[in-house]
Amino acid sequence: MENEYLLLTPGPLTTSATVKKAMNRDYCTWDDDYKKITQSIRSSLLKIAQVDPEKYTAVPIQGSGTYGVESVISSIIPTNGTLLIAMNGAYGERIGQMADVYGIDHVDLKVDEQQPVTKELVEAEIKAHPEITHFAMIHCETTTGILNPIEDIIPWVKAQGIVTIVDAMSSFGGIPIDVQGLEIDFLISSTNKCIQGVPGFAFVIANKMILNGTRGYARTLSLDLFAQYDEMEKDNGKWRFTSPTHVVHAFAQALTELEVEGGVENRYQRYQDNQRQLSAGMDKLGFKQLIADQWQSPIITSFRYPTEDFNFAEFYQALKAAGFVIYPGKISVVPTFRIGNIGEVYSQDITDLLDAIAKISATTV
Ligand SMILES: *Cc1c(COP(=O)(O)O)cnc(C)c1O
Repeated sequence: MENEYLLLTPGPLTTSATVKKAMNRDYCTWDDDYKKITQSIRSSLLKIAQVDPEKYTAVPIQGSGTYGVESVISSIIPTNGTLLIAMNGAYGERIGQMADVYGIDHVDLKVDEQQPVTKELVEAEIKAHPEITHFAMIHCETTTGILNPIEDIIPWVKAQGIVTIVDAMSSFGGIPIDVQGLEIDFLISSTNKCIQGVPGFAFVIANKMILNGTRGYARTLSLDLFAQYDEMEKDNGKWRFTSPTHVVHAFAQALTELEVEGGVENRYQRYQDNQRQLSAGMDKLGFKQLIADQWQSPIITSFRYPTEDFNFAEFYQALKAAGFVIYPGKISVVPTFRIGNIGEVYSQDITDLLDAIAKISATTV
């Protein structure tokens, strides 16, 4: 069936017809064929993460992306640990909420939402708080579309003997990340972002040596990362509880399609081209990008309202009627809306979107 509109949102996003088709069957979860698919997904994820399978493992967790982040936060920090959280948007703050729920000591590094987290800021915080044992930051803060420089920050933090956690939910698979080279111990992403699958599970790329030391740390049963890993290892890819079978098959197809596209490098190029075309076109129509080019991700872009009396609700409805669904803004200080360009979205789609926006602007102004 044809889609009514193109999703220009950061996941769920527009998937290919073949990814959707892969779900059109019922599957059993416990047999060897199914477990083989899980194992092949796990090994593909390690390739995308550029890691040595001797040193790293990939652990899927049922649920949306947040469940994956919560699995890590609730499972790998001992009761006497202290977590430093870098926050320049809603997803950094969400990690703070998780730490509160589990009574985990945390230090919050709050940064302006329109600015990146920097190594200088992280360094000052770690020097001021020698009790810090774990560090978490967001790669692409989807709140604004800002790309935080993990490559400057993570290796330095790791060199201080601190365990490193990166929420790369909206960037993994769409931006090359050398997980092992950067010394990221735990990286979290999910099925329905740059790998272009459908929503249903998250996954963690984990440093095995660190993960193996976390047995018994988990504060929940179902989100216990070590237990899920242990079961998958002992039983060749068996999930602990009912797994999202249709989503798993769609994800396996999405991974194949990523490879056919030429891997992460080529997808990154396409997303980058989409973003540049979008931003340049919007600029001509009077919509200014919120984040400076230097920090703008190729994933999602925030645009300022063009005028004070800009009516986003009307704009949204008009665009939806024209076949495009965009996203409201998520920051309070500046009125913005967001347009994502990940998923099955190509240059012609951006051209069509810009034409539709030009028409809508001409009739409402
Ligand atoms: C999408 C996203 C999440 C997870 O959101 P869910 O709605 O739980 O899938 C977490 N962090 C970032 C940076 C995201 O973009």
